[in-house]
Amino acid sequence: REQDEVADLQARVNDLDLKSTTPITKFADLPLSEPSAAGISASHFTTLTEIQAQAIPLALKGKDILGAAKTGSGKTLAFLIPVLEKLYRAQWTEYDGLGALILSPTRELALQIFDVLRKIGRKHAFSAGLVIGGKAGFSLKEEAERLTRMNILVCTPGRMKQHLEQAASFNADNLQILVLDEADRIMDMGFQREVDQLVEHLPKDRQTLMFSATQSKKVSDLARLSLKDPEYVSVHEAA
Ligand code: ADP
Ligand code: MG
Repeated sequence: REQDEVADLQARVNDLDLKSTTPITKFADLPLSEPSAAGISASHFTTLTEIQAQAIPLALKGKDILGAAKTGSGKTLAFLIPVLEKLYRAQWTEYDGLGALILSPTRELALQIFDVLRKIGRKHAFSAGLVIGGKAGFSLKEEAERLTRMNILVCTPGRMKQHLEQAASFNADNLQILVLDEADRIMDMGFQREVDQLVEHLPKDRQTLMFSATQSKKVSDLARLSLKDPEYVSVHEAA
């Protein structure tokens, strides 16, 4: 039954017309799984923001994306919904390990993403973890053990680097999707090397979504390294 549901959902995604002259404006009109749709509506989201309307259909179809839109424009859902849908359609289970990695420049932003993930993902069965360091009572080793059981991780580059250096505990061989949020800040904070190291550990045939508030040379450099044939979406403020 679930197999049929996934096949039906995949067919609806395939039928999505990216060139339609009437873009989708409501979450209810997107080809989304039952648990995502329920989580979104329970969180009282009904109408897509502009960056969501541009990015989500492309991301659902598996495209790599470089998205730019100012702070407050709704970029979090623009990547979290595609993450949940990717794993759902792959019928990801607790035995499949790490399926999605979301990188955020600061602990505070990572926490915010994690909270939104918990809200809209509440009807899904995936496990999700936060890897930000500095949490009382958790040594790197204890944390590493928990990591191996997680399907979705939200992390900061510094903490992730520590785990990579203890390589034995970190297995991303099955990773389906990587998100780089606030890519401009990740670069401005000097995390280029950490991100490069991390990306080297990831399978090449993954999907990558990258978002930032501003476009810069550093962001396009990072995009060149980590994205494959990306779609560029950006929302400009009215002049
Ligand atoms: P950004 O990452 O672009 O700075 P956020 O994802 O943090 O933006 O969203 C900013 C605010 O907008 C949050 O309070 C969020 O709950 C709200 N928001 C996001 N998408 C929607 C939507 N489709 N409808 C209503 N509010 C939304
Ligand atoms: Mg954000």
